[in-house]
Amino acid sequence: MCSIIGYKGKNFAAPILVNSLKRMEYRGYDSVGVATIDEGKMLVRKGTGKVAEVNKKLDMSHMLGNIGIGHTRWATHGGVTDKNAHPHAAGDNKIAVVHNGIIENYKELKSELIKTGYIFASETDSEVIAHLLNLYFNETKNIKQALMKTCKRLQGAYAFVAVFDDGTIGGVRYEEPLIVGVAKDGYFVSSDVLGFLEHTDKAIFLDNGDITIVNDDKIQIFDFNGKPVDRPITQVAWELGDIDKGKYAHHTLKEIDEQKLSIVKAYNQEEARMKKFLRILRAAKNVYIVGSGTSYHSALVAKHVFGMYAKMRVEAVMSSESKYVLSFLDEDSVVIAISQSGETADVLDSVRLAKSQGVKVLSIVNVTTSSLARMSDAFLGTNSGPEIGVAATKSFTAQLIIIYALADRLCRGKLGLDKEKLIHAVDSVLSNKSTIEKLAQELKNNKDLYLLGRSLHYPIALEGALKVKELAYVHAEGIAAGELKHGPLALMEKNTIVMILNPHDTTFNDTISNAHEIKARGATVVGLSDQKEDVYDYWIPIPALSEEAFYPIVEVIPLQFLAYYLAVGKNIDPDYPRNLAKSVTVR
Ligand code: GLU
Repeated sequence: MCSIIGYKGKNFAAPILVNSLKRMEYRGYDSVGVATIDEGKMLVRKGTGKVAEVNKKLDMSHMLGNIGIGHTRWATHGGVTDKNAHPHAAGDNKIAVVHNGIIENYKELKSELIKTGYIFASETDSEVIAHLLNLYFNETKNIKQALMKTCKRLQGAYAFVAVFDDGTIGGVRYEEPLIVGVAKDGYFVSSDVLGFLEHTDKAIFLDNGDITIVNDDKIQIFDFNGKPVDRPITQVAWELGDIDKGKYAHHTLKEIDEQKLSIVKAYNQEEARMKKFLRILRAAKNVYIVGSGTSYHSALVAKHVFGMYAKMRVEAVMSSESKYVLSFLDEDSVVIAISQSGETADVLDSVRLAKSQGVKVLSIVNVTTSSLARMSDAFLGTNSGPEIGVAATKSFTAQLIIIYALADRLCRGKLGLDKEKLIHAVDSVLSNKSTIEKLAQELKNNKDLYLLGRSLHYPIALEGALKVKELAYVHAEGIAAGELKHGPLALMEKNTIVMILNPHDTTFNDTISNAHEIKARGATVVGLSDQKEDVYDYWIPIPALSEEAFYPIVEVIPLQFLAYYLAVGKNIDPDYPRNLAKSVTVR
């Protein structure tokens, strides 16, 4: 959720760390901190706020020393306060630690440590790591032993980086990502390749249960029992570091606009990869697609598209629910996991659960160096490039394109996926943003928004509602149109705003009846459709498409714009919505 980074090299650590934290800030951002070692002395500066704000206040980037660690926090245990910000120091500033994740047994550990005389300065779970390291270092006078002994006491999911006043950096990966960057003049230990890609494209992806020590210009990697392990150096694509906003005010707007390009990149899959993926999929009797948030909505679209065109029965499962519903899989099942980051804890849990039952796992994932990609029997990359805005936009439509491409192959081309036509349609919705901007202006004081759709449009109603909630903090609900009279109709009255996802396809007749029912109760109807109807108080035009399967792509873009402009109109930073982080690596 948060970002951790360590650096040891020939340059001043602090400016490098601050810059790395800025580049990874999308991961979590309620507090920031840096610790460096200067001539054997530990310096720590930390506080609440975004990286630039805290740096301005505390001037972290001018801290001295060539060795250091840094953190952006997304609080799980303990309020958002200066004291709870990381790094956490122990042993009279001999050791400092930054941590990503949750230590589940921190209460027991904390009371044990307090009984031995340790004094805690924060309310976090993370601080136990610092004190345990100190305890075991005092006992063994050996950093490797201290790290190993500490790891054996911790339960939960964690990655942490510790710095010791002799200049050693230690890093541990356990169910949270940690990657080593190998530069000409130093080493990085980071949550994300973005933390060091400006300096090096050479990365070592640590495995679960790996400990690394950087000292004396070299790096060692070993397991929790101290046995050395061999991890290769991989070359990472430089494009992954492309996080410039360019001429745009926000990453989110840039990423919405990029969809014309990103859908093409998603479509262009390596044939061998596609074949491997399809071979496993075709062999399966039961197909479960798991995802969280937006990726779950992709799973719902896949359920419809695979059913309608490939006549394949597919179950879409929220990954957070998978432990309750996927615990009795037959061996001839397959699980397809969808994720932008490939690090979402709930998704990885679903994958582990599937694997523990001998079931093959396929994935559709943007970050192809992620844990998910590496755990899958086959994966397809959405090739969207970095998505910095916390709300998923281009990664969603890229996931949909891959779903269409798969369905098209499964039904031997009956879906008729015509890339050129789709790009043209996307282009036309992208160029209509001013209509949505005006609509957002009109709706800006509304407290609730309902979105209605059936069949393939229902997942898009859910996705539109999710965008509006996360970006504009407006209560929004996606409703399956056929369910209207089974409850939600009671909410319809004067001043209620209802968006109807209603292109002229097989769902049109039923959904237009719903529009009339709503209108008859005095509510305002916004029609998202390829044709204007009298019942619409507002009309958002979308292009008519020859195949209804593709409407989700042209429907979701106006909804992304709506959420974006509602946020901007309310002075909310759409790139960094409150309380949310881009990849949810905690449960
Ligand atoms: N659990 C830790 C805390 O609340 C770390 C959270 C994070 O990953 O940022 O401080």
